[in-house]
Amino acid sequence: MKLSHRITHITGGGSDGWDVFNKARRMIADGIAVTELTIGEHDIRTSPAILEAMQMSAMGGHTGYAMVPGTDALRKSVAARIAARTGVPTTADNILITPGGQAALYAAHTATCNPGDTAVYIDPYYATYPGTIRGADAVPKAVVTTPDTAFQPRADALMEATKGASSLLVNTPNNPTGVVYGAQTLAAIAKACIANDLWLISDEVYDTQVWEGRHISPRSLPGMAERTLVVGSMSKSHAMTGSRVGWICGPAEAISHLINLATHTTYGVAGFIQDAADFALNQGDAVEEEVAAPFRRRRALTMEALEGQNVVRAVPAQGAMYVMLDLRATGMSGEDFANALLDAEHIAVMPGESFGTAAAGHVRVAMTIADNQYLDALNRLIAFAADLAAQ
Ligand code: PMP
Repeated sequence: MKLSHRITHITGGGSDGWDVFNKARRMIADGIAVTELTIGEHDIRTSPAILEAMQMSAMGGHTGYAMVPGTDALRKSVAARIAARTGVPTTADNILITPGGQAALYAAHTATCNPGDTAVYIDPYYATYPGTIRGADAVPKAVVTTPDTAFQPRADALMEATKGASSLLVNTPNNPTGVVYGAQTLAAIAKACIANDLWLISDEVYDTQVWEGRHISPRSLPGMAERTLVVGSMSKSHAMTGSRVGWICGPAEAISHLINLATHTTYGVAGFIQDAADFALNQGDAVEEEVAAPFRRRRALTMEALEGQNVVRAVPAQGAMYVMLDLRATGMSGEDFANALLDAEHIAVMPGESFGTAAAGHVRVAMTIADNQYLDALNRLIAFAADLAAQ
């Protein structure tokens, strides 16, 4: 039977960028010890206190259908958090609770793009972006950045690429680069959206993981609240990746239509998960800082380990749980380097090419294992690269 073009073309047909990851998993299945620095997932689990709140809610009976837009309590807590962090007046009417940030990204593109419309995104990008856009029946168009601007998009490129487009998707703090967009980049993003009259979809799932400078939400820039859909999530901030709970924050009218979409797709998020998320958000910033702390520490360890050599260079990253390493001095592609490193040292990292064309010759290292093991793996990676460069 024939399936729709939309569903059969989601992946775009090319390699999905997970070859090194899959090879590492096969090696592990064969009994080989591999140090995995691939996936963006904490090495801690959801805290017992959050799990207790989840259990209490479930045992208390919150196991039936929950309100489709989200519980009043969680919508209010998310709104209060966003208002406090950004200074933009935000109420529960601006919030739809979604089953994670990924579902929010899909809903946001469905809400803003008609079939065949252009949806712009920035390369390097989080691996699902082009497929999410295709899944929403829009046409992905990349703005390719360069290492010399630390992978931040240039104003002229943004202005040009967004002409005639329906949406622009940006992600700061950024996966895969760890770069936090500065005020200048954000002003250029806002300018392009306003001049070319399009929606901004702002993926801010790493907003609690900022090591230098500060996270600015583009929704807070003049004229942007009415044309921005912010995607947020409990996954990274509270180590709740498996709970699948996130949100979209946007103008009330857009949210009312997005609630209709949720009614006809997800039908909401489990009530006991929402209660646990609400509990977690009301624990305050200290809990978020505790979850972020290991990455802050390991990023400092990374910078120290890279001192005194110039073969491996870090992209100046200010946030998120990754560090992007520039290996062009070895003369190898990121993919060849990652494969060779896996074969020789049993260390798995993601090739930069998995995230588009801009990060060729780089690898992304997820700082998601214990400090001593992380440092050991990083030192071996550096020594391996030095050997290659010397050949
Ligand atoms: N955006 C980015 C940039 C991500 O890295 C991820 C997860 N790795 C997501 C969105 C989706 O996260 P979730 O669905 O778990 O909220």
